[in-house]
Amino acid sequence: MTGFWCERAWLSDRIERGVLVRGHADGAIAEVSKADSPPAGARRLPGLVLPGLANAHSHAFHRALRGRTHRVAARSGEPALDAADRPEEPAFGPADSFWTWREAMYALAARLDPDGYRRLATAVYAELVLAGWTCVGEFHYLHHGPGGARYDDPNAMSAALRQAARDAGIRLTLLDACYLTGGIGEPVTGTQLRFSDRTVDAWAARAGKLADGPLFRTGAAIHSVRAVPAGALPDVVAASGGRPLHVHLSEQPAENQACLAAYGRTPARLLRDAGALGPRTTVVHATHLTGEDVELLGSAGVTVCACPTTEADLADGIGPMRALADAGCPLALGTDQHATVDPFAEARGLEAGQRLVSLRRGRFAPARLVRALTADGYAALGWPAGGRIAAGAPCDLVAVRLDSPRTAGCEPEQVVFAASASDVDSVIVGGEVVVSGGTHRMGDVGAALAVAVGQVWA
Ligand SMILES: [Zn+2]
Repeated sequence: MTGFWCERAWLSDRIERGVLVRGHADGAIAEVSKADSPPAGARRLPGLVLPGLANAHSHAFHRALRGRTHRVAARSGEPALDAADRPEEPAFGPADSFWTWREAMYALAARLDPDGYRRLATAVYAELVLAGWTCVGEFHYLHHGPGGARYDDPNAMSAALRQAARDAGIRLTLLDACYLTGGIGEPVTGTQLRFSDRTVDAWAARAGKLADGPLFRTGAAIHSVRAVPAGALPDVVAASGGRPLHVHLSEQPAENQACLAAYGRTPARLLRDAGALGPRTTVVHATHLTGEDVELLGSAGVTVCACPTTEADLADGIGPMRALADAGCPLALGTDQHATVDPFAEARGLEAGQRLVSLRRGRFAPARLVRALTADGYAALGWPAGGRIAAGAPCDLVAVRLDSPRTAGCEPEQVVFAASASDVDSVIVGGEVVVSGGTHRMGDVGAALAVAVGQVWA
């Protein structure tokens, strides 16, 4: 039986000094008790120990785009400095937008195969654990080979992600996304062919072959109302069973306009009418909503996953997160395209966005931001006992130093407003030590990323 002694621990209603967490052989917490000093054999965790942090929205392969999509000239008309060096990638210009970024993402997706994706995802997931994330929801839509050809194992890409998570030491919920159309009423083309199972039945049959296991659960996803026709939505909901169901919602105004034009309803209303909104549903982004949309999501108890650094990077806008919380939505956080993977930056980004649009501070209390990172994120990923330091919860722990240049002097209750991923000292997942003293058990994660990203673009 493993014991972890915490200088301070974030318990459900308070921060306690001197807490002993005993793990059970099954990877859950067996007992939480007071201990003024570390008992013999217990591992000492410095600073403040938070429950595991859930990254509720990830596309692992997008990490290979980090620092490679910003070629807009300072002034309209000026050439980007390095555009000529990279003729194979889209030349970005003043019209750079979510949609031009998507073309770069498609070019990247076209290059991946199961082996390359496993190498890349292993390094990406290792980066996530190093940053303090203990659980990740992988919104997975890159299912098939070039042109949509099936791999010998039709779940080869899912298997690659599962193996990557195992090697990197992160808890994974694989959200297998149904993707059938390239836009509302449009066929899939080009790289999108790799995303599509062609029918809901074929998607459900393939995704249904994945079985839960240690540190691994499955869930379902509707890619978006752009990629699943209204008539197919109830079938996806039925096939998802009692598992988590995630969906990209109203990230960009163009999605709303297309949905209104085709169906006379907003995407949120369309999902509600299809029976897709409920307590096991998580909508991602929820940026451009009407007042009625907010009420629909809140009354259904839908979790809203904000991805603030991605939403800023992609010029999505700022969603009505305080109004959604007031309407009854639990909130979760994700790093989505992994432009950055810092859990504290996401939490602060959520609060900063609401401050900027309201001209008021204190929109979310620090404890509410931690809840979004922990218990509400875990619940959204199908681990309802997770994100807590309590008996019966998964033994996932994150020790954050309180003596770094960033955190020194802060009140521990407000550490989410001071810390960065660099302040994460130790990470425990399922009772196993994955990060210790700021080092991942895999060793040099930067080197692993350099190799994996380099191979993708080679
Ligand atoms: Zn996404």
